[in-house]
Amino acid sequence: MVKNRKLSRAISDLGWRQFQTLLEGKAEKYGRDLRVISRWEPTSQICSSCGFKGGKLDLSIREWECLNCGSKHDRDENAAINILVAGGQSETKNGHGGKHKTTAKVAAACEMSTHRGATA
Ligand SMILES: [Zn+2]
Repeated sequence: MVKNRKLSRAISDLGWRQFQTLLEGKAEKYGRDLRVISRWEPTSQICSSCGFKGGKLDLSIREWECLNCGSKHDRDENAAINILVAGGQSETKNGHGGKHKTTAKVAAACEMSTHRGATA
């Protein structure tokens, strides 16, 4: 059925929904906090230090340098920090996970982004 292009998307979506439901059940059972972020959140495209959106990166690019602030990022570590921030857990290093000190302006922007982020 996954070969059927119309059905494959529905099946894939159902798979993820079912996985999420299972996770929600387990989280509730063991008193854990589960947060879901938008699947369209560009977590690997945004600099976790300054919030600059660098654009899509080819999957083969594992490390990159922010054009705005010059921070060097491991693709996966940067995305993980951005997922934490998108999930409302901005209690990362310097409030943004970066190697720079957080200014009041960045901290405010971070707070705004965490409040704006749609989490379930
Ligand atoms: Zn940056």
